[in-house]
Amino acid sequence: MRVLMIAPPGAGKGTQGELIAAHFGIPHIATGELLRDHVARRTGLGLAVQGYLDRGEFVPDQIVLDMVREALIAAKAGGGGYVLDGIPRNIEQARAAYEIGLELGMTADVALHLDADDAEVTRRLLARAALEHRSDDTAEVIAQRLALYHQVTSPIICWYRDRGILVSVDAMRPAQQVGREILADLDAMAARPAPVPAPERDLAELATLADAFGVARPAS
Ligand code: ADP
Repeated sequence: MRVLMIAPPGAGKGTQGELIAAHFGIPHIATGELLRDHVARRTGLGLAVQGYLDRGEFVPDQIVLDMVREALIAAKAGGGGYVLDGIPRNIEQARAAYEIGLELGMTADVALHLDADDAEVTRRLLARAALEHRSDDTAEVIAQRLALYHQVTSPIICWYRDRGILVSVDAMRPAQQVGREILADLDAMAARPAPVPAPERDLAELATLADAFGVARPAS
């Protein structure tokens, strides 16, 4: 099972990502966690990205994509499944993640969208702030992360819907209920016959991604 998750901050990507990973026995690759680990260890990369995290801005695409490529190569050696949490966050990352997936023969089977409104996720993040002290869980930075989600990340969802791999779940409910529905939906997706590999279709999908956002097509 190969899943990528798209959701606003506070919708439960971390919790549900762990659940999916345990259920299918696949690695949970969380870009935010990987970045925070670098910050905590004060690596060169950590020092370079800390400001972006503290301000609730995206770190440069190439940094995240290099991390994800490395993690996907490890996932391939471990059987090929994965749950990606935190990427893609913009159109360029969506395209690059798809290209890396094509190159490694492991594009996503499911794009999982966790749907929750701003008031609910803000409430959850402020509650978490009291316990975890994450530098980006302040009211001001939460508002910035949500604004970026609405402007730049959520428009990507329609591309996955058009490709027929979108699963959208109401994430306003308690985590256990949301988790049960996700696993039922993913089990149903896993039972579908695998699509026949079709390079022409893959390239056509990249083209529709470009068209959908009015950006230049990738060089062929
Ligand atoms: P949340 O979704 O709650 O904001 P994450 O742990 O997924 O939490 O991400 C935390 C921060 O890590 C983001 O605000 C951003 O600075 C950085 N980050 C994580 N993933 C990406 C990504 N794919 N591209 C750019 N920045 C990212």
